[in-house]
Amino acid sequence: MHIDSRPDLLNYSRAQLVELLAQWGQPAFRAKQIYRQLHVNLAASPEEMTDLPKSLRDRLAAETRIGSLVCSAVHEGDGGLTRKALFKLADGSPVESVLMVYPDRATVCVSSQSGCPMACVFCATGKLGFLHDLTPGQIVEQVYWAARLLRAPSFDIHRLTNAVFMGMGEPFNNYANWRAAVDILHDPDGFNMGARSFTVSTVGLVPGIRKLAEDELPINLAISLHAPEDDLRTAMMPVNKRYPIRDLLSAVRDYTEKTGRRVSFEYVLLQEKNDSPDQADLLGRLLRESGIRTTLMHVNLIPWNPVPGTPLGRSHRRRVLAFQEGLHAHGIPCTVRVERGVEIGAACGQLAGTS
Ligand code: SAH
Repeated sequence: MHIDSRPDLLNYSRAQLVELLAQWGQPAFRAKQIYRQLHVNLAASPEEMTDLPKSLRDRLAAETRIGSLVCSAVHEGDGGLTRKALFKLADGSPVESVLMVYPDRATVCVSSQSGCPMACVFCATGKLGFLHDLTPGQIVEQVYWAARLLRAPSFDIHRLTNAVFMGMGEPFNNYANWRAAVDILHDPDGFNMGARSFTVSTVGLVPGIRKLAEDELPINLAISLHAPEDDLRTAMMPVNKRYPIRDLLSAVRDYTEKTGRRVSFEYVLLQEKNDSPDQADLLGRLLRESGIRTTLMHVNLIPWNPVPGTPLGRSHRRRVLAFQEGLHAHGIPCTVRVERGVEIGAACGQLAGTS
């Protein structure tokens, strides 16, 4: 196997790029030009950087690369408004990203790892196990894939408005790389995405939640809760043994107090497992008694999406609506997630790198 050991320019912060170019004996403005080409023009190769001398373009091409993911397929769903990309790492490990286009916004759902170590029983990515942490550049590259697609005249909106870290993997299990990617995407001199355009979703890693609470960037937080009591949550999500519901909710409470920002709780609905009216009532009580202000929380119900070979069922519509009612009875804001990409295996929990 040929290994491409050239460093990926998408991993470089602005300062690191200046440093690299200084080592090459180039003035700082060259670094600035390259940075703009990478993060504003979204150049995919040095050839596109026509404001650089040919010799520098050649050196970049020989000694560096832009991106390290290989796109092996793009699938279209929802009449072209949802696109799923399947990328491969050098060893063939899968990475998936999903672009969802709406009339007034466009969201990319990005992976933070290839595979996932968290082993939630209802999730397709969990079945793969952990394969790799993605580098900052590999996370950024997925966002740029979506941003480049959006340039097509067929879309009504041409700018990416949101990036959600809800693809493969557990972002807080790859915290430093995930956070470095956000810095690159957020840089006003680069891609310039607003901090509030980012949402990170966690399985419930308490140290990550506490770390994000200290972050000066107002990144949105979502928590995969999925059950109102520990036995059931542990059966669904092994991570609950390490961070049981009480510890999780107390970290979330501290986060909301510290930041004043609203969190969302994701709750995947599994027929006859966690979707009864009693469980809705239990969840309502749990959240009300968590010490988190109800104005700072929101529950997002996700009817379970089928995962091949998994003997679980998707809650019937009636039960979903009854569950929502049950939470509303406790005064808890709650919506049902509008699904995208189910028919192309691009919906929540379906990313398994198979097609
Ligand atoms: N590891 C992070 C990021 C993944 S986000 C986390 O757990 O939050 C993906 C969301 O989809 C999570 O809330 C996850 O629990 C949920 N999910 C997983 N499998 C699903 C499925 N088959 N159907 C619907 N949602 C699912």
